[in-house]
Amino acid sequence: MIHQINICLSPKVASNEEACKEVVAGKLKLPVDDISHFNIVRRSVDARGRNVRINLGVEVYVGELPDAIVRPELHYLNVANKPEVIIVGAGPAGLFAALRLIELGIKPVIVERGKDVSSRKADIAAIHRNNGVNPDSNYGFGEGGAGTFSDGKLYTRSKKKGDIRKILNVLHFHGAQPEILIDAHPHIGSNVLPRVIVNIRKTILDYGGEMHFNQRVVDFIVKNGEMLGVKTLDGTIFKGRAVVLATGHSARDIYKLLRDRGIHLEAKNFAVGVRVEHPQALIDQIQYHRPNRGKYLPAASYSFVSQVEGRGVYSFCMCPGGVIVPASTAPGELVVNGMSPSHRGGVFANSGIVTEIHTADLKQYHHHRELAGLKFQEDLERKCFQMAGESQLAPAQRLSDFVSGKNSSSLIKSSYRPGIISSDMHRWLPVNVAGRLREGFKMFEKKARGFLTNEAMVMGVESRTSSSVRIPRNEDTFEHVKMPGLFPCGEGAGYAGGIVSSAVDGERCAEKVATVLGLSDV
Ligand SMILES: Cc1cc2nc3c(=O)[nH]c(=O)nc-3n(C[C@H](O)[C@H](O)[C@H](O)COP(=O)(O)OP(=O)(O)OC[C@H]3O[C@@H](n4cnc5c(N)ncnc54)[C@H](O)[C@@H]3O)c2cc1C
Repeated sequence: MIHQINICLSPKVASNEEACKEVVAGKLKLPVDDISHFNIVRRSVDARGRNVRINLGVEVYVGELPDAIVRPELHYLNVANKPEVIIVGAGPAGLFAALRLIELGIKPVIVERGKDVSSRKADIAAIHRNNGVNPDSNYGFGEGGAGTFSDGKLYTRSKKKGDIRKILNVLHFHGAQPEILIDAHPHIGSNVLPRVIVNIRKTILDYGGEMHFNQRVVDFIVKNGEMLGVKTLDGTIFKGRAVVLATGHSARDIYKLLRDRGIHLEAKNFAVGVRVEHPQALIDQIQYHRPNRGKYLPAASYSFVSQVEGRGVYSFCMCPGGVIVPASTAPGELVVNGMSPSHRGGVFANSGIVTEIHTADLKQYHHHRELAGLKFQEDLERKCFQMAGESQLAPAQRLSDFVSGKNSSSLIKSSYRPGIISSDMHRWLPVNVAGRLREGFKMFEKKARGFLTNEAMVMGVESRTSSSVRIPRNEDTFEHVKMPGLFPCGEGAGYAGGIVSSAVDGERCAEKVATVLGLSDV
């Protein structure tokens, strides 16, 4: 017999398998020895009360054993001689589209502007040394896309549980730790993700797919109003039965190319702001209501949402025990983001704190029409670069100083490796952005006493939370509304945000391609 039960334990008991088993046995009123096997299928931390508790969802086997360890239902087929579909971009959307095409018996040909994971590391190291940004190889561009050196937090607001389960299974199959299958807030970690991405590449190549690195797409091959393929910087032409465009939201040249080729785009709302960094110990104290988190609790996180002047102000991509990284994708701009390793053992906690920008807020950019938001983001990142003395140093200000509009005469230690420079961010951020962030911080302080402190710093700018452009597609077929053969996909298309939702979109896009081409009965 199999029982599904929920138990609520102290962090110490929850960390000990035998102790958990005893609690389970007590709850089921059974001798411990009657339990033949048990699996934790869900885990979450409840820090609302004085005593922090761990909630576990457990599957308990009595008098029987589970079937062999459940392996994902992955049926990869050899596609070496099958019809080809071009995928531009090897981020989560592109890679998962490729894996799904392989399952459907179609050959993916991935065209990626950046380098493979290991060659990419040297370019990222150069950015950390403040040695400039390679426009094809950085935190955003290269094998695995923006996901590779990210935090690997795998939460999504998407409700399609089946799809999410499949993505987690595929990641686990390719080397991610099994805990991602049970945690309420699964997280792979920036140290593990690159290995997972390399394993995905191996699957794609082993089953007959192709991956072409160092191939920046600079033009589309269009004939009689239909997308037939792409052309890259060195003149190589890739043609296929369809083109999946999964270039992410940082590929500004692609949006400009689409506009220049008369391919319909739409402006969409997005969000910008700053990264805030606190000592992790302070966030632990605030969230766990105790002087330190001790041995059994994970580094604490937070999530805030509020409304100021009719616009959302919220925390985004919170990284417990993490570091702030330079996420610019071109010279002359400065963008920050955050990530944490799997153990989340660092001494800092960082998060984006951003405010929504609606297209109606960008009156002075209206002449840029559908690219108004993109131009606004670009200007903000260039301004930030200038304020950093034209370098990858991050402009920084102590948090209370930012909120009360004071200069920070001294800064504190930070995780940001290129270095930081004191800057009056309250003065040069757009007035509505600075104002809303300041009000937002005051509201967050009411929810978490001690959060608004000069022991924390804000750094700029966090401008790439989501795409400011949508590449509109037909809801049923996922084909571009006006360009047959083009399938916009993932975050850059404006239909996803984050690793998991981009991966889900990649899979669904592959299924639509197969249906539209009549290559599968999915
Ligand atoms: C530092 C950092 C931390 C993050 N942390 C998290 C996190 O913890 N959890 C989470 O869910 N999300 C996180 N994100 C966001 C997440 O990585 C993205 O949402 C996700 O990668 C989007 O997937 P995508 O495939 O749509 O696009 P991308 O990952 O952006 O991939 C697009 C790919 O297209 C390629 N490309 C672009 N232009 C061209 C061209 N002209 N020709 C050929 N190829 C091109 C790029 O090189 C890139 O490889 C983080 C991002 C960063 C930068």
